[in-house]
Amino acid sequence: MKKNGYHEITGIIHCLSGLRVGSSDELLQIGGTDLTCIKHPVTLRPYIPGSSIKGKMRSEMEQRLDKVGDGGKPCSCKKQDCLVCRIFGPHATPQHTLGPTRIVVRDAQCIRGGETEKKSSTAIDRITGSALRGALRTEERVVAGSEFSLRIGIQVWDLDKDCQYNDKTGGDALIEFVKDGLRALQQTGIGSGISKGSGEIEFRDLKLDGTPFTL
Ligand SMILES: [Zn+2]
Repeated sequence: MKKNGYHEITGIIHCLSGLRVGSSDELLQIGGTDLTCIKHPVTLRPYIPGSSIKGKMRSEMEQRLDKVGDGGKPCSCKKQDCLVCRIFGPHATPQHTLGPTRIVVRDAQCIRGGETEKKSSTAIDRITGSALRGALRTEERVVAGSEFSLRIGIQVWDLDKDCQYNDKTGGDALIEFVKDGLRALQQTGIGSGISKGSGEIEFRDLKLDGTPFTL
């Protein structure tokens, strides 16, 4: 098994709406207490974990390719023609012949803006129409107009020689798949609260190995 190449997609994640990427307090605190945005421990600037971008890209591509696993779990089919398993790795399946995970998504550091705002939300009692007691939450989100750096590494192995995606083959198929993943993120958004208007983004200044491209 031999590594044949490495490609890098870089660009800017531009926030068209506020962006909410929660930190771990989300699980611990319900009601009243602020749900804070994830921040770098030293600079205290918000960032978007690479795992968050990668996870959202995976779930969007699974939905588009009809590859959502049983019970809504990530795909673990291990099939040679499954680009989801090839690129992201089969879910919770250590034994397979697809080779290593092909994609590395770096943490997206804040390069512009990065101020945070508080957004309140509540749950409504369906019968009385009033706010449910204790349901008011204040969430922190990064303001619209903020920008984060995007960096995605794509590893190509000799195993990918015959892999197909759309009309592309081999390493080009992997790149095309990731581009479709970016298109999907641009259509739906990233972070939490998308259905409530957060997380709308646009990719700008995209480059593949330094050469500009558009989605
Ligand atoms: Zn699969």
